[in-house]
Amino acid sequence: MQILLKGGILLTEDHSPKVMDIFIDDNQISQISERIGVEAEYVINCENKIISPGFVNMHTHVSMSNMRTLLDDMQFQRFLETGFKMDALRTDDDVYYGAKLGIAEMLSKGTTTFLDMYYGEDMVARAVQETGIRSYLGWSIVNKNQTTQKGDPLKNAEQFISRFSGNELVTPLPAPHGIYSCERDDLIASKELADRYDLPYTIHLSENRREVYDIVKKEKKRPVEYLDGLGFLSNRLIAAHTIYVTLNEIKIMGRKGVTSVNNPVSNMKLANGNFAPLLEMVQHGVNVTIGTDSAATGNSLDMLENAKLSSLLQKNYREEGQAMPPSQVLDFMTRNPWKVLGKNSGVIKEGALADLTVVGGGPGQIPLRKENAERILIYSSSGSDVQHTIVNGKLLYSQGKFLGIDIGEIRRKNEEIFDRYSSLINS
Ligand SMILES: [Zn+2]
Repeated sequence: MQILLKGGILLTEDHSPKVMDIFIDDNQISQISERIGVEAEYVINCENKIISPGFVNMHTHVSMSNMRTLLDDMQFQRFLETGFKMDALRTDDDVYYGAKLGIAEMLSKGTTTFLDMYYGEDMVARAVQETGIRSYLGWSIVNKNQTTQKGDPLKNAEQFISRFSGNELVTPLPAPHGIYSCERDDLIASKELADRYDLPYTIHLSENRREVYDIVKKEKKRPVEYLDGLGFLSNRLIAAHTIYVTLNEIKIMGRKGVTSVNNPVSNMKLANGNFAPLLEMVQHGVNVTIGTDSAATGNSLDMLENAKLSSLLQKNYREEGQAMPPSQVLDFMTRNPWKVLGKNSGVIKEGALADLTVVGGGPGQIPLRKENAERILIYSSSGSDVQHTIVNGKLLYSQGKFLGIDIGEIRRKNEEIFDRYSSLINS
């Protein structure tokens, strides 16, 4: 596919946006110039619009999208218990159609790559390959005695990894669920699995107070210190949430080059009582990124909503209006993820993968200038302002229409699944 984007405001690596044309050939950005006159299959007028590197959602459970609203307004412990109970009832089709729904939502809101954690990732991989989004799929590893998976989670994870190694759109990886759902040996084995295949690996970490208290009681160490003692930390670890971390834990994370995923909407919706100390994390060398968590927790897979809150929470808490400007938040959702995911993406330059999001054109993005484009994107826009989403050089979403996704079928199947779950919960 060849795509020519005309006259948009490009968000550049050095944070000085420019009006340029972009020519995409095959899966790469092939040319960036003030005026490009070539023929292309798609010529898209991007005047008065912002062209951003595609958003990377670094923490989600995409196939839970058909459980949206079923786990609302509960205390965290009950949320976890009900969630696990429902997981046990889910069929392969439930996971597959849920994933397709989540992918459609993400594409419509500008996400070009997502990092997932769940069991049944082979079903998610099928949805990824049919839709064309880029993905990092973490097979969830939970202790054998707690899991709802069939068979041994660690073996399932390894099988999944060996099956999808080298796939263009699916990078498989191990995802130990958390320090409260994995024993010491599970954590060590998960890390060894990631090492053996030289892959990133992901975990839920310090998401709620109880998790911290329990491990302090059991191990006399805080969560990050406990994992450090196991040799679990490295520059390939992606730790979601990390809202209850001390300065010492932040320093350890920084020294080890850990990536943290900030999920402010999910944290607040689940009433977890805190937010990630991003300013301290950046200061001490933690690689900060952003995620939505699932549609059953944060209720939408909107990266721009989470991006805005990533900035506002820090400003408000510190009473520092200048803290966490849009340029920094933009890096969290575009450039930083690729430091750990390791592909040539996340910046708009010739030769990079063509993963791009075109935003704006509505009244909420006026007045738009090169000088305020990053602020318009982060402070004034939401997922519904996304106009076009391009992944791996292919136009997958364009002004309300999906190219290659049957949204009618997705609606029908997921509504059936939702009704079945609702009657189970109420019976
Ligand atoms: Zn999660």
